[in-house]
Amino acid sequence: VARPLSGRVALVTGASSGIGEATAVALAEAGAAVAIGARRRDRLDDLAARLGEAGARVLTLDLDVTDEAACRDAVERTRSGLGGLDVLVNNAGLMLLGTIVGADPEDWRRMVDTNVMGLMYMTHAAIDGMLEQGSGDVVNISSTAGRTARAGAGVYNASKWAVNAFSESLRQEVTARGVRISLVEPGAVVTELRSHITQPEARAAALAHTEGMRSLQPEDVARAVVYVVTQPPHVAVNEVLVRPTDQE
Ligand code: NDP
Repeated sequence: VARPLSGRVALVTGASSGIGEATAVALAEAGAAVAIGARRRDRLDDLAARLGEAGARVLTLDLDVTDEAACRDAVERTRSGLGGLDVLVNNAGLMLLGTIVGADPEDWRRMVDTNVMGLMYMTHAAIDGMLEQGSGDVVNISSTAGRTARAGAGVYNASKWAVNAFSESLRQEVTARGVRISLVEPGAVVTELRSHITQPEARAAALAHTEGMRSLQPEDVARAVVYVVTQPPHVAVNEVLVRPTDQE
């Protein structure tokens, strides 16, 4: 088995389910030591046990990305516990779909705090060390929603637009110093993401959207992340848009 990431250390946020969990597994299979962060400790402990049984070095992090100090602490604990930080996957996210008219702004705060501020805090905490070592990957999980806005997804669209703008701006700032900033933009993936939607009609519509469609599995997105971070140092895959074949 090829182990292209052996000797590298990765940190995945939102690793307790869905895309983050599958990405942690895929990075470990590729040979990386993996720090896994999220709020649901029981889910992380289960994943850590599975990764450990498969022979990976793994560190479990209690992490709420909306807490700047917790983000700093997660990066520090990864560096001290696993000996470095080469790959940061900013995956933690919420998709609280719904109309703007009549929305509960609390949904907006939670989405912006997690999808935007959380990703920025984590990146800010990790980037100095990567610049000092002259290498590293920051992979930001955006979405098709970061490229196409539609009614009923306004603030989720806005949050992923922010992710894309932040990523491209940072890419220009640091790329010549050896640190690669990449976007992975999935279409519909079967995960728990839709189950958190609070507007009942939006929730029903989101669940109906993927009916009869061969959706992506989290592992399909994880392969895209592994592809991005296993390129030779002079190759930067800036953006990967990966949709189900059936998604129009
Ligand atoms: P899941 O709901 O399965 O996973 C979301 C993860 O984010 C969970 O592990 C959750 O862990 C974590 N998370 C949420 N809030 C926080 C927080 N404050 N601090 C730390 N972790 C947090 O959904 P997906 O796997 O689908 O979503 C992952 C990413 O993929 C998101 O950014 C999403 O926008 C993006 N995406 C998903 C698509 C899809 O169709 N599923 C399509 C395009 C993009 P916990 O609750 O334990 O903290």
